Amino acid sequence: MEKLNFKDMNTIEKNKLDTFLLKLSGKIVTPEDVEYNETRKVYNGNIDKYPGMIVMCSDVADVIAAVNFGRENNLLIAVRGGGHNGGGLGVCDNGLVIDLSGLKSVRVNTAKNTVRVGGGNLWREVDHATHPFGLAVPAGVVSSTGVGGLTLGGGVGHLSRKYGLTIDNLLEADMVLADGSFVTVHKNQHQDLFWAIRGGGGNFGIVTSFKFQAHPVKTVIGGPTLWPIEKTKEIMAWYHDFLNNAPDDLNGFIATMVIPGAPFPEHLHNKQFCGIVWCYTGDPADFKELFKPVLALNPVF
Ligand SMILES: Cc1cc2nc3c(=O)[nH]c(=O)nc-3n(C[C@H](O)[C@H](O)[C@H](O)COP(=O)(O)OP(=O)(O)OC[C@H]3O[C@@H](n4cnc5c(N)ncnc54)[C@H](O)[C@@H]3O)c2cc1C
Repeated sequence: MEKLNFKDMNTIEKNKLDTFLLKLSGKIVTPEDVEYNETRKVYNGNIDKYPGMIVMCSDVADVIAAVNFGRENNLLIAVRGGGHNGGGLGVCDNGLVIDLSGLKSVRVNTAKNTVRVGGGNLWREVDHATHPFGLAVPAGVVSSTGVGGLTLGGGVGHLSRKYGLTIDNLLEADMVLADGSFVTVHKNQHQDLFWAIRGGGGNFGIVTSFKFQAHPVKTVIGGPTLWPIEKTKEIMAWYHDFLNNAPDDLNGFIATMVIPGAPFPEHLHNKQFCGIVWCYTGDPADFKELFKPVLALNPVF
């Protein structure tokens, strides 16, 4: 029970807490609430932290109020975007979690091929919104990753060979800083901060909205190929040469993996493989010829 020590929260005077709650349009979740255990979870199931309070922000005003409340009461603060960070940076023990999952909205500007995205969106929500317009923003390879953490860390994925990192496509960001002030940063405004958030991680402020350059991506041919784990060295050496010489329309993400279950056939379940997950965005008519060398290596799937 040592973990259930919310001493930081218990030292806050009741009137300060009441004033904070009056400013909130979202809600707070505390250890007394039934949804507490579900709400404190992050993607990595090994992370088991017990925050004193989780603020479920619903707009920028909530973020400002939460930052001010945390600073004025000297609380440890963790900011959670998609909650995907492997080390569990989006949650903390005892302190205040500022959860951005209520800050979701994706607006595509089809005249300029730009996309405005909320600080709490997940990448699958961005893909869903841009796809009808034949557009996409370079992001990671797992769709449940948060836009916030991935972007601030750089962001590399299937479209990066052709269109660069996620931060190469970041045009502008709205931010709440540690003193509670609000700024918009881009290449001509707060240039140092704009530089810092393009790869510097989450400590420069809370991004409440991102603006990205999108690119024409309409038809994608994708999926995995698998080889027996014993062939990993051979496949990796081949992959290095093959991808370096392949057109930028093709990307492959190589990994050793255990096949979990469906949709893969049963005889592959729970076995180890060397796999490459492919993504091709070029002319579909050229794919068969381009992919011939892959199939010549006799993948088992
Ligand atoms: C299964 C898996 C696959 C992955 N694949 C890729 C990949 O293909 N490409 C790649 O580049 N990365 C990949 N990553 C890494 C991923 O980008 C990082 O873990 C990233 O931090 C996740 O962002 P998040 O918002 O979901 O995480 P969170 O845990 O919510 O946050 C991570 C960090 O970012 C900060 N943060 C989040 N949102 C904001 C915001 N709006 N403003 C300010 N700070 C914020 C948090 O405070 C924290 O410090 C992968 C991770 C996993 C677990």
